[in-house]
Amino acid sequence: MSKHQFQTEIGQLLKLMTHSLYSNKEIFLRELISNSSDAIDKFNYLHLTDDKFKEENWSGKINVTIDEEDGSLTIGDNGIGMNEDDLINHLGTIAKSGTKSFVESLTGDAKKDSNLIGQFGVGFYSVFMVAKHVDVITKKAGEDQAYKFTTDGTGEFEITPVTKESHGTVVYIKLKDEEKEFLSKWKIEEIIKKYSNHIAYPIILNYTEEESVGEGDDKETKKVKKSEQVNDATALWTLPKSSLKKEDYIEFYKTLSHDNEDPLTYIHNKVEGANEFTTLFYIPKKAPFDLYRADYQSGVKLYVKRVFITDDDKELLPIYLRFVRGIIDSEDLPLNVSREILQENRILANIKQHSTKKILQAIKKLNDDDFKIFTQEYNKVIKEGIFQDYTNKELLLEIVRYKSSIEDGLVSLDDYISRGNSEKKEIYYIIGEDEKVLRNSPLLEAYKKANIEVLIMDDKEIDEIVTPSIGTYKEWTFKDITTIDAPDSKTQEEKEEISKEYKELTEKIKEVLGDEVKEVKITTRLTTSPSCVVKDSSDPMASMAHMFAQMGQPVPEAPLILEINPDHEMIKKLDKLEDKDKFADLAWILFDSAKLAEGLEPKDKSAFANRVAKIATEAI
Ligand code: ADP
Repeated sequence: MSKHQFQTEIGQLLKLMTHSLYSNKEIFLRELISNSSDAIDKFNYLHLTDDKFKEENWSGKINVTIDEEDGSLTIGDNGIGMNEDDLINHLGTIAKSGTKSFVESLTGDAKKDSNLIGQFGVGFYSVFMVAKHVDVITKKAGEDQAYKFTTDGTGEFEITPVTKESHGTVVYIKLKDEEKEFLSKWKIEEIIKKYSNHIAYPIILNYTEEESVGEGDDKETKKVKKSEQVNDATALWTLPKSSLKKEDYIEFYKTLSHDNEDPLTYIHNKVEGANEFTTLFYIPKKAPFDLYRADYQSGVKLYVKRVFITDDDKELLPIYLRFVRGIIDSEDLPLNVSREILQENRILANIKQHSTKKILQAIKKLNDDDFKIFTQEYNKVIKEGIFQDYTNKELLLEIVRYKSSIEDGLVSLDDYISRGNSEKKEIYYIIGEDEKVLRNSPLLEAYKKANIEVLIMDDKEIDEIVTPSIGTYKEWTFKDITTIDAPDSKTQEEKEEISKEYKELTEKIKEVLGDEVKEVKITTRLTTSPSCVVKDSSDPMASMAHMFAQMGQPVPEAPLILEINPDHEMIKKLDKLEDKDKFADLAWILFDSAKLAEGLEPKDKSAFANRVAKIATEAI
């Protein structure tokens, strides 16, 4: 026998589980049956493809046994089983780093955490909501030694070598005294039907019932052992859509994804013809906790003719659809398909393309409320898609939403176009980190004045890469307002006239600021601010920014142009100022405060503060 400590995080998880999920305890059965079904899936594959197991007369089955006298419930399967290492690594440790950091992020606030737990899926450990004590007796297919894993769910577990005839796993649950309702045949039957009806393997319920035997004085009641299959045992996705109800889809989703919430939507398709396949996809209401982790878990399982192949292939759908859960079942792939084949397979590429279209179309068709939820959870990954998936760019651009300078909330590009200037066909946008800074940017002044809508893009890291790559949408061209001339009513000649008039002033400011600015010029884009900074669109650095970002390199700072507003009192006064020192201070303040207004930092912050203090003191 060997004693082990649970990893600290598991201890934490167990404590949480018992306290936060108490209102929905019955899901432990769903989780254990789902694990059994996965284990049978895995052995089924070996049975069909591996000579070592081909001979075995085997068909997958799950047994749920109620023992009223003992106060216990047992879930047994004839799946792949576990060896000692598997027990330690899969049940005793949180191996996946994503899961580990998830648990670390738990706050200890039961209410908040139980939401998180729903999103994360608790699996095996949910058994401790009802169990006083658990034994897992298991033998791995192809190995000789069986093991018993024992724990009361507090801090430790024990592993003992035992004998067990055939491969598979039996989970013995000694129920807590207050959880005896799970000994009722009706209750268990109801839970299995509710959550696990469409598990592809038969679930047999074993129980005892009292029956009267004999006649007259000899009549007595006797306990009789009974067994019956309680589920349909047909893989849900193989059934015709017309025979399935919304609830069937939802319960299957919960088993598949370990999510306690209903999905946002589901997409079920059967394709016949040159390539035959069935797909069933779900969009979770809450983004998976590992959505932005490099080691995220794939949510799509690949089957070939109903035989489970893998749940670990991240190429089944485009990466940006990594939040989708579901199943792909192909009729055409060979069963013993290798990883290498999977990667370059034409059949799979075709399924991927078809699936992506169907999923995006379903997203587009979500009702308003669901679409809002979708946007809140997944707008950023849709932006990734715009960049990654050229084939579906148009569809993705129909789905993506942006903040706008003319209204709160989010707008679609179609909304924008319907309000925009249909002769110019330009979509204006500004990118930055902070929504508030962007909304107050001096660069927006001219657009506000001319009543022109500007998209406010505050997912800076991603917008900076994605938006310049869009080019056009429905013939409308995307324009970064920091790199183009602002709308105004002045003619070219008038502008040249003003520039000439202020030539001396702009030259003097440039002299003070030196290489910190590329150019100083007069602008007509401002109404209330004295100055602003813009990027130089002709600079190759600016136009190559997204290429740098794509290569994962830091984006070089594009040189800035300082623009000054000749109608502003400060500029008029500056033009007449004789004092050289004061002029230099004010030129720097013009530049640094323009940078601040765009969320950029002055190069020398303390010099900036000193200058402001100096000028302010003189002004008092
Ligand atoms: P999940 O099922 O989400 O991976 P669990 O905590 O439920 O998480 O299970 C952890 C792992 O333990 C599983 O991934 C699997 O490798 C193993 N496992 C659990 N139950 C069984 C079983 N009945 N048969 C074989 N392996 C199992």
